[in-house]
This record gives sequence, C-alpha cells and structure tokens, in this order.
Amino acid sequence: MDPYPKPLRELISQLKRLPGIGEKTASRLALYILGEKGGLAVGLADALKKVKQCIRLCPVCFNITDKKLCAICQNASRDVSIICVVEDPSDVLALEATHSYNGLYHVLHGLISPINGIGPDNIKLPELIERAKKPSIKEVLIATNPSVEGESTSHYIHKVIRDAKLPVTVSRIAYGIPMGAELKYMDQITLSSALRYRRNIKDL
Ligand SMILES: [Zn+2]
Repeated sequence: MDPYPKPLRELISQLKRLPGIGEKTASRLALYILGEKGGLAVGLADALKKVKQCIRLCPVCFNITDKKLCAICQNASRDVSIICVVEDPSDVLALEATHSYNGLYHVLHGLISPINGIGPDNIKLPELIERAKKPSIKEVLIATNPSVEGESTSHYIHKVIRDAKLPVTVSRIAYGIPMGAELKYMDQITLSSALRYRRNIKDL
C-alpha cells in the first residue's frame, strides 16, 4: 500500500517529470511544499500558471518573451548586423550573462537530428535563412553546441547560406580548453579542436 495520500502522490509524480528530479527529491520537495507556511504553494501555483499563459515566442528571433517582441529585438542599441544562432532560449540567457555580445539572436528550438526524425523544417531554420537575406545582416554566428547535431546543423546553415550566395559571413563560436582546465585532463576531441582553432596571440 502506498503510504502517501493520493494528492501528495500526485504532486510527487508531477515533480518527478522535471529534469534531474528523482523519486527521493520529488518526495522531499512535495513534503516541503506541504509543510511550508509562507504561501509557497499558492505562489508557486500562480507563477506556474502565469509563466505558461504569458510567455510566448518572439516572432522575429523566437526567444521567449512576455511582450510583442523580445527585449533584445526591441533594444535599439543592439548591433542589427549580426545574428547569433542558438539551440534554446537558455543559450541566449547564458550568452547574455557574459555581456560580451551585443548583436541579435535566432533561437532554433532544436537541432537537425536525422536519427530522431528532426529535419531543417522541424526547427526554426527556414526563418533564419529568411532573416539572413535582409541587407542589414552581415554575419551569422553559429553558437550551437559542439555535439554531432550541433555540428551538422552548423554545416547545414553554412551550406544553405553559401549556396544562396548571400553576402553574409558565417562564423562559428570557438571551442577548446575551458578556463582553469589542465591540458592533461582534456579529452582528445577537445584538444584537437583547440589545436585546429588556434589563434594568433596578438588577436587575443
Ligand atoms: Zn526577438
């Protein structure tokens, strides 16, 4: 017999659907929510409802927003000649946190993955190619992850832009040794890409 009352079991089952949450953590969180006296349960329920009701995709770059256009597309001080292509909205947040990029974004919402039946038309790729045709766009910077899917998506974008003879530079984010890491602990793929994408020291 299940020792948990049914509504509590239901909460645990829902929490378990979250990434990285197993049975133990879900049950700990559920019991915490149940016992908390400061209005957490109501606040959480409200916030969950609101986030699903109000957050939509920006019609230009497909980043998440609660306005008509996202904060980046609306910002007149951004460099409109460069589009950084990422897989997910969380990548936009990560890149924005660096304060090192001032261009626009394009969120693909996935990567090309033939094994999973995801082709270019299943993600926001046709929309990217349309944007790249705008005369104001000078560079498309591809910042997909260095995975098999990330690389094939990057190659695909490069090929389509090249075949369409668009006057746009296609660049790829650099990857290699992370800050603070030691060479001897790096895997071969990381080391070989660090060698391949080396830069002249005067450009650093
Ligand atoms: Zn936008």
